[in-house]
This record gives sequence, C-alpha cells and structure tokens, in this order.
Amino acid sequence: MAFVTRFAPSPTGPLHLGHAYSALLAHDMARAAGGRFLLRIEDIDRSRARPDWEAQIYDDLRWLGIHWEEPVLRQSEQLPRYGAALDQLWAHGMLFACTCSRRDIEQALSAPQEGVTPVFGPDGMVYPGTCRSKPRPASRPRDAVLRLDLQAALSCTPMPLTFRETGEGPPRNVVTNAATYRHEIGDAVLARTEMGTSYHLSVVLDDAVQGVTHVLRGADLFEATRLHRLLQALLDLPTPVYHHHRLIRDANGKRLAKRDDARAITKYRAEGATVQDIREITGLAPAA
Ligand code: GLU
Ligand code: ZN
Repeated sequence: MAFVTRFAPSPTGPLHLGHAYSALLAHDMARAAGGRFLLRIEDIDRSRARPDWEAQIYDDLRWLGIHWEEPVLRQSEQLPRYGAALDQLWAHGMLFACTCSRRDIEQALSAPQEGVTPVFGPDGMVYPGTCRSKPRPASRPRDAVLRLDLQAALSCTPMPLTFRETGEGPPRNVVTNAATYRHEIGDAVLARTEMGTSYHLSVVLDDAVQGVTHVLRGADLFEATRLHRLLQALLDLPTPVYHHHRLIRDANGKRLAKRDDARAITKYRAEGATVQDIREITGLAPAA
C-alpha cells in the first residue's frame, strides 16, 4: 500500500518537543514504508500566523534531519479551493449561517427546558441549533460563520462511518454512529468569518488534495477525526488511515502548548542538545 504522510504545523509559535516527536515519527514511518513525507503550513488563522515562525519551522525541521517534498502547501494560498467546497456544501443545503455569540450559545444551552448539561465536542460546545431554521439565501453568505447542518448531513450519509486507527493500542476500526454525531459533534463550524474556512474543512480537503494516505497527529485530535470522516463522506473524498500518537507532556503531566517556550526546539538547540537527545527525550528509537 502506498504511504504518504504529512506534518502540518501552524506557524503561531515555536515548535516544541511535541511537534518534534510528531514530525520525526511521521518521517521515520514514511522512510520505513518507502513512502513520502509532505509538509503543510496551517496558516489560516491570519491573526496568529507569522512569517518568522514559519521560517523557524523550516529551520528546526532541517536541524532535526527531516526532508520534505517541495512545494510546501500553505493553507493561506488555498482559500479559493476551500470556498469552492463551501459553495458545494451550501448548494446541497448542508450549511447555515450562524450569528450566535459564545454567550448566546451558553444561554441557549443552559435554558431550563433543555435540562441537559452542555456537551463539549471537538469544536467546543455542541451547538443548540438556534440559527438552523432561519431562511437560507440561494448563495452562500460571505464573511459569515457557517455551520454544518448535521441533520441534513446525516440524512444523506449512510451510517455508521468508520475509519482505521493504527495509533496507540491494536489497530482497529473506529465506528461513529448517528447518535454520536448528534450528541458529541453537532452543527460544527466549517467557516469562520476571519478565516473564510476552518481547521476541520481545510485539513480534510488538503489531506485529499495532497494524496495523504496516513495521517499522523496527536491524540488530542482523535475526536475531531469523527467530524473529518463525515466531511469526507459529504465531499466524496477518500479516508486515510489515522495514527493518533501519544502527547508529549511536561514534568507535571500537562500537555505542551505553543506558549511552553521552555520546551521549544530552539531552546534545546541553543543549549547544545543533539537530535539524538531529542529522540531520547521523546521516546523515539535512535535514527536508523
Ligand atoms: N495544524 C495542527 C496543529 O498544529 C495539526 C493538524 C493535523 O495534523 O491534522 O496542531
Ligand atoms: Zn447561531
């Protein structure tokens, strides 16, 4: 089987040990499989992405001994393609515009007649549906928050949906049924005003356009994969194999965040660490 994987960092801060682990693991697995390793810069959040962080990513990856194919896919250059997918979903009645603030959603969810505590999915609170029944214009509104109409999506998608998971534990097929979509995912946001897209939509479209067969990423994205699987069904895209790996944690057991500069690769480099040291700290086998 072909093996095409990718590393997809966001240039919103320094790469830290967790990123190094993810990139090295993907690179090692591609090499072992005689496959390909691609790089994608996830810079759709233009308020946070910075060119100097992007330059630092290339520098750190080179230092780690990672080779990627050119050209690098930069999400900020793909907006027309994301827009086309949104148009398609809109035309099929799969999206609606949402004007709710976070506070509106909280209030709707805490209304007494609901009687249920808000459920948090991969996309935050599961949306209570406030804007779903508003009239929908024929063409997709620009500069709006667009949510997936989950009920419409479920009505045209055979359930359950499955994907192959080869991460922690024995390989298995992860099954998601309609009830899980309803209770844990809901009407997820597929386009944000300031981005014109969303992480979920872009990642699914880009993995397909880059021909990715194996997605390696942190276990924190496992639940989001259920939504990605649904988007693949709606957009008629192939489903890669998923390998969600363990997260690298700090001394207190907390997962590393972008702001954990203490674990930045640049810091290790400045202190004279070698790539072998990084492999050891993150529990990777020595380079072959
Ligand atoms: N850009 C995401 C991140 O830096 C990774 C997304 C993915 O691998 O699907 O966390
Ligand atoms: Zn709304």
